[in-house]
Amino acid sequence: MLAVRINAERLQVSLRRLAEVGATPGGGVTRLALSDEDKAGRDLVREWMAGAGLAVKVDDLGNMTGQRSGTEGGPPVLLGSHCDSVVRGGKYDGALGVMGALEVVRTLNDRGIQTRRPVAVVNWTNEEGVRFEPAMQCSGAVAGRFTREEVYGRTDRQGMRFEDELRRIGYLGSEAERPLPAAAYLELHIEQGPVLEAEGVPVGVVAGIVGITWLEVVMEGQADHAGPSPMHLRRDALAAAARVISGVERLAREQDESAVATVGRLALEPNVINTIPGKVTFSVDFRHPDRAVLETQVARLERLVAEVSRETGAAGVVRRFWTSEPTPFDPSVVAAVAGACDELGLPHRSLWSGAGHDAKYVAEACPAGMIFVRSRGGLSHCEAEESGAEDVAAGANVLLGAALRLAAGA
Ligand SMILES: [Zn+2]
Repeated sequence: MLAVRINAERLQVSLRRLAEVGATPGGGVTRLALSDEDKAGRDLVREWMAGAGLAVKVDDLGNMTGQRSGTEGGPPVLLGSHCDSVVRGGKYDGALGVMGALEVVRTLNDRGIQTRRPVAVVNWTNEEGVRFEPAMQCSGAVAGRFTREEVYGRTDRQGMRFEDELRRIGYLGSEAERPLPAAAYLELHIEQGPVLEAEGVPVGVVAGIVGITWLEVVMEGQADHAGPSPMHLRRDALAAAARVISGVERLAREQDESAVATVGRLALEPNVINTIPGKVTFSVDFRHPDRAVLETQVARLERLVAEVSRETGAAGVVRRFWTSEPTPFDPSVVAAVAGACDELGLPHRSLWSGAGHDAKYVAEACPAGMIFVRSRGGLSHCEAEESGAEDVAAGANVLLGAALRLAAGA
């Protein structure tokens, strides 16, 4: 059977037009959630949804859905992502998933394809969490992770409330219009990492979203004059911390190729050139698809800190303060994505997402999955973010093929 294909040129035009909204001089976009730029982007999306014959609705969190009927009723196969961006972000993060979903619907229209289940396009509000923290707020609220009041009460740095800004831009709808329930959810997204490029593969079948745990380590020694203290009589907190930090890197390298560990933040006291550091506080970020491995990494870190404390005399304390469980995607959705790749004759590989996406929360409410498109240089959240037109088309074709499988197309 010959696979149906999207209109690659039309998809590029949509991406380019959306990227004009909030365009930055360096070739990226700034479209912060609930800003004037976000409103202008939403207006375009609404116009395009309506133009594709979709019934458009907006919920109480500003999530926008456009639905195409199936031959049967019931919950739709939901396709989408987000149109908000970070400051000086790229043209593809999020936008690709919404424009790709719209292109799928336009292609179904062009071909006169009737699906058994309805197919719907969604634009989730405030995925990035840059202006209003945390990230993935409105997919999270729909999946039951946050209450509406929690979301409404968030304020930006100027003290503007989420609810007021949502009303101001004209996208405060009603709870009855929420995108879920859905029969399944599919999100097309750029990889935001270097794996597909390194392996020369255009698309990735995403197995799930890794678990993350954040810890804070404090090493406390003794601040003292850098001159009179001989080396064997010091308790240098930074020298001790350095041993732990190189150990953190080793923990990930020795685990397996899925394990990553990062020390990204470090504070040093008193941070003076001629004083031995008395206290060092640093963060540790562990990520892995397997919860048990994360627990092992934490236990190993605790042992390492205890060992370094004993050997250096700098007392170490480990505090674990946040964990996000791994989210494996639904096997039926993952199989639909892989099947679509095979039907298109596309080389692909399975990989886990190291970053969070709306699909993480949506997966708690319905069967969900994701498709990754190769990112040039693995770059994202920057103006240089780029995916080649052929890869974008390949990803959108996989989205179409997988959606047809899940919606039981003709
Ligand atoms: Zn994104």
